[in-house]
Amino acid sequence: MQAVVFHAHGTLENVALADVAQPEIGPDEVLVRVRAAALNRLDLWVLAGWPGLRLALPHVMGSDGAGEVAAVGAAVADFQVGDRVAINPTLSCGRCRFCRSGADNLCAQFAIKGEHAPGFLAEYAAVPARNLLPLPERVSFAQAAAASLVFVTAWHSLITRGRLQAGEAVLVVGAGGGVNTAAIQIARLAGAGPIYVVGSNAAKLAQAEALGADVLIDRSAGDWGRAVYQATQRQGVDVVVDNVGAATYFASLRALRRGGRLLTVGNTSGPTFEFDNRLIFGKHLTIIGSTMGPSQDYATVMGLVFNGRLQPVIDTVYPLRDAPLALARLQAGDVAGKLVLEP
Ligand code: ZN
Repeated sequence: MQAVVFHAHGTLENVALADVAQPEIGPDEVLVRVRAAALNRLDLWVLAGWPGLRLALPHVMGSDGAGEVAAVGAAVADFQVGDRVAINPTLSCGRCRFCRSGADNLCAQFAIKGEHAPGFLAEYAAVPARNLLPLPERVSFAQAAAASLVFVTAWHSLITRGRLQAGEAVLVVGAGGGVNTAAIQIARLAGAGPIYVVGSNAAKLAQAEALGADVLIDRSAGDWGRAVYQATQRQGVDVVVDNVGAATYFASLRALRRGGRLLTVGNTSGPTFEFDNRLIFGKHLTIIGSTMGPSQDYATVMGLVFNGRLQPVIDTVYPLRDAPLALARLQAGDVAGKLVLEP
């Protein structure tokens, strides 16, 4: 089958379309004919690699996919060939105390398709049947693929971990990324507000407004932390969503009110940085980290996607062969929404 792979960690030059063996399924697994796959910044981190990440090479890229069931394992009863499915990209053992208590994202064997296991930038993918949700006809494969990773991540961060409440003021740092566009919508759905969004250009901010942002702050206009401080009558916000990291943490912590909380699921500008600890204890701040989310959160948030209350923002849909081009756009950061690839 055709797949987008890399044979060695490194840069985009290592990414190629290749012919690889079709995956084989176990008794509890389903072979999915991938109809759409979506890119995430995670794909670029995995390509670059990190100490301790040991992959079978060549590695099939991509953590988001949706498609049709092409074959089912002997023990699979819930799905049949031809079923349309959305796919939770997380893997866990299914047996440990975390998995049995619904916290499968804390499983010691927790992994993500496309990160630790073969991904979805391919014609077929093998997936545990328990990862699948039936996909209604009214939701496209592209929408399901574009939603999966970012919506479960944002839902788990804002709702399950962050316990976002109606009426709370929220600041989302960044307007164009998939998690941020999901976070704006989830904050709106939760009744939070005002919702402040810091963005890098007018087009991304206009999109943020369409998704539910109340106050738009152009970061090119100067000190956005001060702008938030002034816009909140020097109170600060209750919650900051900061997945940028090094470049923004200090301003994000400063933008919080006393007792506020900073939610983070990543660090697009780099993972290692300094901040003034006096801000944390002096203002009684809480930093809440998470990554991805448990299966229950996936089912909950995808239910809201399926009924149209949450909508993934799709920038462009490409044929699979254009994956190198799409990955280059992702790396350049010039995207407003998800990049989707169709095998
Ligand atoms: Zn487990």
